[in-house]
Amino acid sequence: MNDYEKLAELLFPQITKTTEYYEELYPKRNLPEGARVSRFAPSPTGYLHFGGLYAATAAKLNCTATNGIFFLRIEDTDKKREIEDGVSAIVDGLEAFGITPDEGVMGFENEVGEYGPYTQSKRAEIYQTFAKSLVKQGLAYPCFCSAEELDEIRAKQEKEDIKGYYGEYAKCRNLSYDEIKANIENGMTWTLRLKSPGDVTKKITFEDMIKGKIEMPENVIDVVLLKTDGIPTYHFAHAVDDHLMRTTHVIRGDEWIASVPLHIQLFKVLGFKPVKYAHIAPIMKEDECGKRKLSKRKDPEAAVSYYVEQGFPKESVSEYILTILNSNFEDWRRANKDADLSTFPFNLKKMSVSGALFDMVKLTDVSKNVISTMKAEKVFELSYEWAKSYNKQLASLYEKDTAYATAILNIDRENKKPRKDLAKWSDILDYISYMYDETFVPCYELCGNATKELAVDVIEKYIDVVNLNDDKDQWFTRMKDICEPVGCTPNVKEFKKNPDDFRGHVGDVSTIVRVALTGRTNTPDLYTITSLLGEEKVKERLEKALKYYKEEA
Ligand code: GLU
Repeated sequence: MNDYEKLAELLFPQITKTTEYYEELYPKRNLPEGARVSRFAPSPTGYLHFGGLYAATAAKLNCTATNGIFFLRIEDTDKKREIEDGVSAIVDGLEAFGITPDEGVMGFENEVGEYGPYTQSKRAEIYQTFAKSLVKQGLAYPCFCSAEELDEIRAKQEKEDIKGYYGEYAKCRNLSYDEIKANIENGMTWTLRLKSPGDVTKKITFEDMIKGKIEMPENVIDVVLLKTDGIPTYHFAHAVDDHLMRTTHVIRGDEWIASVPLHIQLFKVLGFKPVKYAHIAPIMKEDECGKRKLSKRKDPEAAVSYYVEQGFPKESVSEYILTILNSNFEDWRRANKDADLSTFPFNLKKMSVSGALFDMVKLTDVSKNVISTMKAEKVFELSYEWAKSYNKQLASLYEKDTAYATAILNIDRENKKPRKDLAKWSDILDYISYMYDETFVPCYELCGNATKELAVDVIEKYIDVVNLNDDKDQWFTRMKDICEPVGCTPNVKEFKKNPDDFRGHVGDVSTIVRVALTGRTNTPDLYTITSLLGEEKVKERLEKALKYYKEEA
């Protein structure tokens, strides 16, 4: 045994498996040519962030587009920052927006797939096996420096270009086997460091799939691979995990871009085939002060739970994410109106280099479109599910008569040009409030040529003739028939030609009826509203309106 081999045994006596064992246990995946394997690898330190959902969507589409595999790995090596239910927050958050992994962590203590465990805290033995192998080859060494000693080094390096444990600062790099043994016997704790083969004068270049070609200095720092408790740092875990899980594409936040030279070096010393990298710029937001990052602290919409609570359907959020994910998505959508999102030919190269812009107005528009194409049944089902948790009043109105509720939601829907009033389920209660006595708030304000005096005349006439058995044509004929006796014209064009000859036109007549029945000047189809409200409510509301206008006129 040479000194390196002896050192490996000294540091890792408990490790009996070999790297070959794991290479065989996790063989190359049997996938079609060109299939990509990617993952979402969050730490369970808080709620799922919109940026996380965005990155996970990119990773998933990158795989589905090539019949590959998308998996979820939980990076829980920093137990101090972990929150209770952190794993469920991620899994449920992804699930709520249809980002279901093909394998990996599926829920608390629930993993699926042949390449696990997919939770880093369960992989200590694997990391240590690869660490032991590096020590055996003289590519890693134990470092006994205390926190104070490391602080001293940092202080000395204040003016240096390169900061960290390297060169003359790497005190433990060349300790002999005997010195190390003595330190360990004295009870000193150690971290394991990479013996970096980097050269300060050299540069590496790599092709980032989003940002293009990047050139950076080689890594020369002897970074920590294992902490004193034998748990890996992100860098080491990333290399070991993404190799053994046979990841082909690492899609992650661009805060990691500065670490790529180190990661490429780690893959090399470990003898792994390098992965392809795609670094995503943070989601931006524009406010009074200009562009800034979407902030967990300042922006409620940064948490994906916001969309759930507000009742944005997952279909809308996914559709919106795609509009900001790939610049050509909207053109594709126009050409493929009904296509499933999973068939969009997603391309990493079409992602924003500087950071996609989050825009609530756009999300609202996208969502209005998405909801307008849903069948009433679906709108009812989804919004009822939402209401049970977030709007008890809406849920109980629905429960009075679900067929009535569905019929309301069907007004001006399921036709060629559906109305686009609803952006989220929390809009519904206000939108349909006049359809229920419990929530109807009369408001007799008029618009256009409709005056209170005209309203008195119109309602007096309409009360006499209103017939709930009318079909739509008959209903409209009745509206028109009222016009002449009250001094209006049924013909809008005619009114425009000679406005002084009339008190108003058929539009004003129907506005008066609309306001009386709904308290609003703008509603979906008034004929259907009238039919659904039923004779009793219609007459009662007309009477009340008439009384009001008579008193006011
Ligand atoms: N746990 C790392 C993070 O949350 C993952 C980065 C990666 O995807 O490799 O930033």
